[in-house]
Amino acid sequence: MTFATLGLIEPLLRALETLRYQTPTPVQAQAIPAVLAGRDLMAAAQTGTGKTAGFALPLLQLLTMEGPKVAANSARALILCPTRELAEQVHASVAEYAQHLPLTTYAVYGGVSINPQMMKLRKGVDILVATPGRLIDLFRQNALKLNQLQTLVLDEADRMLDLGFSEELANIYRMLPKKRQTLLFSATFSDDIRLLAGQMLNDPLSIEVSPRNVAANTVKQWVVPVDKKRKPELFVHLMRKGRWKQVLVFAKTRNGVDALVDKLQGLGINADGIHGDKPQATRQRALDRFKASDVQILVATDVAARGLDIEDLPLVVNFDLPIVAEDYIHRIGRTGRAGNTGEAISLVCADEVNMLSAIEMLTRQTLTRKMEPDFEPEHRVPDTDASGQVVKKPKKLKKPKASGGGGKRNLGKWVDSGDVAPAEPSIKPVRKVPVFNTGPRKKK
Ligand code: AMP
Repeated sequence: MTFATLGLIEPLLRALETLRYQTPTPVQAQAIPAVLAGRDLMAAAQTGTGKTAGFALPLLQLLTMEGPKVAANSARALILCPTRELAEQVHASVAEYAQHLPLTTYAVYGGVSINPQMMKLRKGVDILVATPGRLIDLFRQNALKLNQLQTLVLDEADRMLDLGFSEELANIYRMLPKKRQTLLFSATFSDDIRLLAGQMLNDPLSIEVSPRNVAANTVKQWVVPVDKKRKPELFVHLMRKGRWKQVLVFAKTRNGVDALVDKLQGLGINADGIHGDKPQATRQRALDRFKASDVQILVATDVAARGLDIEDLPLVVNFDLPIVAEDYIHRIGRTGRAGNTGEAISLVCADEVNMLSAIEMLTRQTLTRKMEPDFEPEHRVPDTDASGQVVKKPKKLKKPKASGGGGKRNLGKWVDSGDVAPAEPSIKPVRKVPVFNTGPRKKK
């Protein structure tokens, strides 16, 4: 199968030739004809499978072939993304695919001045890529009207809900014309997403090109058990031992990112960090430098790093496991993209065992554990498996110590070891359940 047989027009085929896309990926093969036929879509695809071209190519074609010229302060198609970096990246791809078409494209997001964005929108743009918050701001300030909108794309829809955008989405939903095409893309499909899809889509075609909630199989994954306090030391040790050249590292918190970057820079290692507290320009610069291999180690929180496409990234390290298990799939999806191989290493300490278990259950695999000599943890990480159970040791009956007179008398009850509090703190993985409310807001 070729892109030509999918019915794409010549200017798009020319752009794809320049980009050296020879064969459509499975999600593209299914999505392109369906979108061209005007269908709504609900597509689940692994990260790095070519989702962006899957919706952007037919969208560009429809906008070229159909519909009126864009009016002032209007957009004909809207692509919503959860993060600023993803909006930039999607926009860059769309602009590349559109290079031979008479269409205008633009990206708007928060964290930067709104005025240039308002100026740019004056003439209208055919395709607008936006994060939800800034889109609403522009709409409320009358810089953008949506009555000309033909198509709405929700990219990484699950992440938008996880990031707490459900209210923004409900607001945007109310601003849209009823007659439109809606395409919903997501790497994972939770029940909340299915609910959202039920409200926003009209008789959608479901595309599921890979098994649900499975990480790209081109990524070799394993876990190194370690005590929490020794994680930075282990990271540096593994980095030197493995001669890591370019690594994307995920830490749980902003402070965690800063602390690791400081530690690495203190050792003369070329590292930088991105997280939500940093100004957008600083985040983008760090990312660009990492992509250009000017930075060796990029440490990031989930919010800053979702959806990023970094060419040939060989390795992702989870310095901390993510609290939401689905994020594991997104994190390791930064490597092993477009058919390349990759590695994902997770440094796991005892109090992350429930997160590990949730990840194994979600991805339906038991992650291989590799003990690193000299870093064996004092606080053992309990065994886990894909059933989602933290495997308990067989119960042993302990005989209480005979009391020696002084102090409290032990009455000699036989203690079942299952009754004893486990050594590891029981941290339950938090699954945020967003509420998507499309109805009018209740008065408080
Ligand atoms: P995405 O999943 O949209 O982020 O795409 C992942 C990567 O695959 C990007 O670097 C794309 O440029 C690349 N890509 C997408 N479709 C194709 C294709 N048909 N052939 C080759 N590379 C592709």
